[in-house]
Amino acid sequence: MEKKILELKKITKQFGGIKAATDVDLVVREGEIHGLIGPNGAGKTTIFKLITGLYAPTYGRVYLGGKDITRFPAHKRAQMGLSIKMQIPGVYEDLTLRENIRIAAQLYTGKKELEAEIDRLIKLVKIDDLGNPKVRNLSHGQQQWLEIAMSLASHPKVLLLDEPAAGMGPEETTFTAELVKDLNKQGLTIVFIEHDMDFVSLLAQNVTVLHYGKIFAEGDMDEIKNNKEVQKIYLGAV
Ligand code: ATP
Repeated sequence: MEKKILELKKITKQFGGIKAATDVDLVVREGEIHGLIGPNGAGKTTIFKLITGLYAPTYGRVYLGGKDITRFPAHKRAQMGLSIKMQIPGVYEDLTLRENIRIAAQLYTGKKELEAEIDRLIKLVKIDDLGNPKVRNLSHGQQQWLEIAMSLASHPKVLLLDEPAAGMGPEETTFTAELVKDLNKQGLTIVFIEHDMDFVSLLAQNVTVLHYGKIFAEGDMDEIKNNKEVQKIYLGAV
């Protein structure tokens, strides 16, 4: 079995009286694609924010590559190989595609190699046929892929994707699934949040189901799909 690259131990986050995450234990192994699912308000985004360091936990610990990073600031975690693509695109619409990637890449790449690095990132997410338009002229899907390119500028080992196919039509969704699979084949470990079960089925090897901030079920995709209790929470019956 591959070694653990990311681990949460009893992670808990409370906002006043609201328990957004309670005693969440999660293991992500090197090289896997791991889906984090659950109904609205289940605590998925909170878990991502706890992993990246945007939130400090009320208690519990976060480990990256076996190292306890619970108290590390977000930028240190990024340096250690953690990257995230948030759900709402963080692109600069009035700048061009290359200018957007340059903003991300210049943090990690020297001036001499910068243009070659921009080329590499554009190719990596397969948007090298678009030219260099202003980002406001790109489709929703193209903006999402651009942002994935930007999140890869730090050469992460683990990439977190918050609803990577949200708002996409069938073609863009298929492209996104293929892209995620390709990045994974190249060695990237991926954890993603998703509502669309068909998309989850396309990608995830292992799935964790959250419900009311707690782990509700865990297993491979087939186990989760056939889990009657999971089916019920998606129908709002639990
Ligand atoms: P969705 O699928 O709708 O995006 P989610 O599974 O990502 O939901 P979270 O956004 O993590 O769920 O929210 C979990 C719970 O914590 C919700 O009840 C939410 O209202 C609450 N919550 C999240 N962030 C905060 C905050 N900053 N302050 C107070 N409550 C919060």
